[in-house]
Amino acid sequence: MHELITLNPDFQQNPDVKPRAFGDGSGPRVYIRTYGCQMNVSDSQTIETLLSEAGYRFVDEAENADVVLVNTCMIRESAEVRALGQLSNLAQLKKKNPHVVIGIIGCVAQAKRREILDAKPFVDLVVGPDAYRRLPVLLEERFISPPGTPGLLETTLLRDELYDDILPRHAGGVTAFVTIIRGCDKFCSFCVVPRTRGRERSRPLPSILREVESLVAQGVKDVMLLGQNVDSYRWEGQEFADCLQAVANVQGLHRVRYMTSHPSDISPRLLETMGAHSKIMPFLHLPVQAGNNRVLEMMNRPYTRERYLDIIQTAREKVPNLALSTDIIVGFPTETEAEFQETFDLLENVRYDTAFLFKYSARPLTKADRIEDDIPDDVKVARLERLIRRQQEISREQNLAQLGRESVLLIEGPAPKDETMWTGRTPDFRPAVISRNGEAPGDLVRVRLRELNGFTFVAERI
Ligand code: SAM
Ligand code: SF4
Repeated sequence: MHELITLNPDFQQNPDVKPRAFGDGSGPRVYIRTYGCQMNVSDSQTIETLLSEAGYRFVDEAENADVVLVNTCMIRESAEVRALGQLSNLAQLKKKNPHVVIGIIGCVAQAKRREILDAKPFVDLVVGPDAYRRLPVLLEERFISPPGTPGLLETTLLRDELYDDILPRHAGGVTAFVTIIRGCDKFCSFCVVPRTRGRERSRPLPSILREVESLVAQGVKDVMLLGQNVDSYRWEGQEFADCLQAVANVQGLHRVRYMTSHPSDISPRLLETMGAHSKIMPFLHLPVQAGNNRVLEMMNRPYTRERYLDIIQTAREKVPNLALSTDIIVGFPTETEAEFQETFDLLENVRYDTAFLFKYSARPLTKADRIEDDIPDDVKVARLERLIRRQQEISREQNLAQLGRESVLLIEGPAPKDETMWTGRTPDFRPAVISRNGEAPGDLVRVRLRELNGFTFVAERI
């Protein structure tokens, strides 16, 4: 049924093994630890549904589990190190309890495959992002394998796996992520995602709407539509603007937002749709990555600094009170001081409300990994710190300019440090607290932004 694009030659499924159906609440206990982006969070929720339907239970401590799954991130070396750093703890756990099944799943599993099994013989399963449906059968095979059997590897990438028939388990609360497109075809030269998550595929709109409606029925009021490049969304002649509009029309939903957009694909129609619909929030995450055209070309980002700035201007014209955020990488191979300065000037010029700033980290399987990583680490760190310092000042100035303004807060829940207050967000995604006065999570409250405490506003109702 599924078209295979990377058949994993190591995987030999035992045809005699069938997943067991455990009675409700009697199956093995699973602990799942998630690293990385919102897509990984959303994938872990899909796995929760998949395994719960097979009778598995979920627990909050690895020590109490029969199965421990680590959902890994590969985007930067630090993320990979953090996720794999867990493995020494898990080796201890396995020593104490040889029956516990240990699975490494997600992007590192996909990219490092056999290396993990060779280096960490106590790992029982290595499973890539398109193979989660196989988890019940793979787990069963582990349960019946004699101790010492080598771990199982399943990293097949599928061109059409969308998990669109599975409603991910909602973690509770009034906000939720909904994946609308998987994989990525952009092949930015620094990025491992197309190698770990495979080719781009859009989820059918009816299945997205079914998930949003189910979330709304569980109390969700604000959804974030997710994809590596949502602007590439295509389904039966509909594009992302149509999808966004359709989600915004779901009865009972207050707010919809999305990430991530790509400057090469974002359409004027999308910006118009954002500006025209009151339930689509005025927040745009538009990664620029670099402010110099030579570096952008080396990154395989097919737009120029000038084109990017034009898009920002159009977006600000079409969407009133638009808040902006971006991703930037400093210290890409061969980046000169003058080229970095152009990135700094762009950040200064756009005045983002927030920004995610990274130093370049060479990733296996990427085109940039074949270029010498020639910027010394202390130079990368100095560039990054300069950018972070300036962005913190700009974020603070942007926030200060909001003081005294009216806004509408979506109440998310009790404030973490003060139970007498609610915490919530404004339409442009600024966090704010307000004293409790009979409202409930999910309510919208008209407020004035009164004070700024760090990056959180103190609001009062009007
Ligand atoms: N698809 C999105 C896009 O096009 O921007 C986001 C992908 S990635 C999960 C999030 C961010 O990680 C990227 O925008 C980029 O800034 C950063 N990133 C990716 N690869 C990197 C690398 N090798 N070194 C440092 N940062 C990286
Ligand atoms: Fe990576 Fe580029 Fe795809 Fe984003 S668009 S996931 S940075 S390859």
